[in-house]
Amino acid sequence: MAEKVGDQNALSGHGCFNAYLSRFGKRKDAHCDHCDSVYDDVHHTLFECPAWDTKRMAGLTKSGVPLTADAIAEEMLKDEKGWGRISTAITSILRAKRHTERRLQAMATRQPGALNESGG
Ligand SMILES: [Zn+2]
Repeated sequence: MAEKVGDQNALSGHGCFNAYLSRFGKRKDAHCDHCDSVYDDVHHTLFECPAWDTKRMAGLTKSGVPLTADAIAEEMLKDEKGWGRISTAITSILRAKRHTERRLQAMATRQPGALNESGG
């Protein structure tokens, strides 16, 4: 079975989840950067956040059931193909999330300078 770092981060609750980052002082709150949820953790990202609906749907189970917390375990334990399909969907969601967050961080670090210049 091929495991990827992204999967391990997702399953351990680490990685790019604001709930985790805020707990360790790397962020001031646990709000999701992609929707209005106040708590961005692994469950929110993989199963609830509307920003990842398309990728979540791409990870449909073999029987056509959308990726949900209940369906994911059943599907991963069913066979290696199921594991691979879910693993690919998780990796895809996390990769897109990290990409978007890097862009948001880059924008955030540029903004204060721009405000200071005009604020005088
Ligand atoms: Zn969200």
